[in-house]
Amino acid sequence: MDTHADVIVVGAGLAGLSAARSLARRGFEVAVLEARDRVGGRVHSVPIDGTVVDLGGQWIGPGQERAYRLASEAGVSLTSTYTSGQTVYALDGRIRRGGHLPPLGSLSLLDAHRIQRRLERLANAATSRPTAAMQALDAVSTERWLHSVGWTRGAKAFWRLLLEAGACATAGEVSTLALAHQLKTMGGTGPLETAEQDFVVGGAGQLAQQLMVEISDCVHPGEPVERIEHGAEGVCVLTAHGKWQALAVIVAMPPALAARIAYSPILPALRDGLTQRFGQGAVVKCLCVYDHPFWREDGLSGALLDATGPITATLDGTASREGPGVLVALATGAHARSLGTEPPERRRELVLNALARAFGPAAAKPMAYRDHDWSADEWARGGYGAIAAPGVLSAFGPALAAPVGRIFWAGTETASAWRNYMEGALESGERAAKEVTSHLDAKAATLP
Ligand SMILES: Cc1cc2nc3c(=O)[nH]c(=O)nc-3n(C[C@H](O)[C@H](O)[C@H](O)COP(=O)(O)OP(=O)(O)OC[C@H]3O[C@@H](n4cnc5c(N)ncnc54)[C@H](O)[C@@H]3O)c2cc1C
Repeated sequence: MDTHADVIVVGAGLAGLSAARSLARRGFEVAVLEARDRVGGRVHSVPIDGTVVDLGGQWIGPGQERAYRLASEAGVSLTSTYTSGQTVYALDGRIRRGGHLPPLGSLSLLDAHRIQRRLERLANAATSRPTAAMQALDAVSTERWLHSVGWTRGAKAFWRLLLEAGACATAGEVSTLALAHQLKTMGGTGPLETAEQDFVVGGAGQLAQQLMVEISDCVHPGEPVERIEHGAEGVCVLTAHGKWQALAVIVAMPPALAARIAYSPILPALRDGLTQRFGQGAVVKCLCVYDHPFWREDGLSGALLDATGPITATLDGTASREGPGVLVALATGAHARSLGTEPPERRRELVLNALARAFGPAAAKPMAYRDHDWSADEWARGGYGAIAAPGVLSAFGPALAAPVGRIFWAGTETASAWRNYMEGALESGERAAKEVTSHLDAKAATLP
């Protein structure tokens, strides 16, 4: 089969779908090639025992305008995440309850606040230009940075855990510049507290379905792209089933997956170097459905921050007062890697033991349980997004979203707003669509 379109989009996650919809609205003929048999990518809603849960992206919060707009277009209901009651903390092995702030002494709390102010300053100053100051920041891991600025063990343990839960990597794996940069794309450290404010009743998968409404005819699932040939005249995209010719291609996926496609001619060394180093974080998301949200009766919000693992963090994912209670548990970084090596039954046992330790014995007996190890997912290889180790961003960052001839890059990892979030995926798709439009308009203008 040999098929033509103006633009091929590879990947039908939120980034690819948003790019394709933007291009279709501008009058381009688009074809979206997706490896999986479904759209949505790292957004995947499934029913377990009659309750729809999100195995991937779920929460949205203030500042994520595109995601809220899409939810409103789709006519879906949003629910506010339940946050009343106490949070369970296990910062040093002991289970303790606290409020919005962790149960630390006053010096540690002051220190935790100081660390936040320092991070805020770093986020304001972060730039992707490789200045000497940025290179120096990039040479330091988040772990080393925390050691150098933190006074107290408690404050460092608290921030280490927050950062590890957010990055899906241990603090030693992530560069301080990468962290500062990520925070900058979110608008600072404040949004860390509100990014999980709301979620879509019935699953975030409905956002992907809404993007599909205008373009469903041009989305082709079950078409893993194996090779992209590109040149001055156009591109040729090869899948296991056929060959697609187009004027341009948008590759809308994490850099580590984009690197698994063969390119002819090969990509510039800077781009290739980036994809050799910019791997995905590790996360196992576990969904536990109970008859009702029993933890609320005990004055708990359902939130947990646990350094002992295997679960790093939990949140209450209960969608309605009447419905069943849902605890959403996330194992991240080293805990996720370790949990991923366990067989399913043992994994479930380890997760439920951790939840019972935090929320009491009822947590060990869910009506339904499901987990998903995103590192073992062939078409994701990790989540929530990519992590840059020390030295990577300042040396290779400029190649992250820079087009290569007629190849353009989207995916939340390339976003300039809310990188590694669903909002970032949507923003990156719109940006890539604009780039392709300008490129093709400029080419058309030079025709005789
Ligand atoms: C467990 C988990 C929890 C998360 N929680 C949240 C949250 O609460 N809030 C939030 O905002 N974000 C969250 N995220 C992040 C969010 O889900 C992602 O940022 C976003 O969905 C990424 O979208 P994308 O389109 O950039 O990439 P993807 O969704 O990864 O899309 C890429 C697509 O490309 C396809 N593909 C890959 N290789 C090929 C190939 N060779 N040929 C064809 N197709 C290919 C993939 O199958 C996939 O469909 C979470 C992520 C995970 C994993």
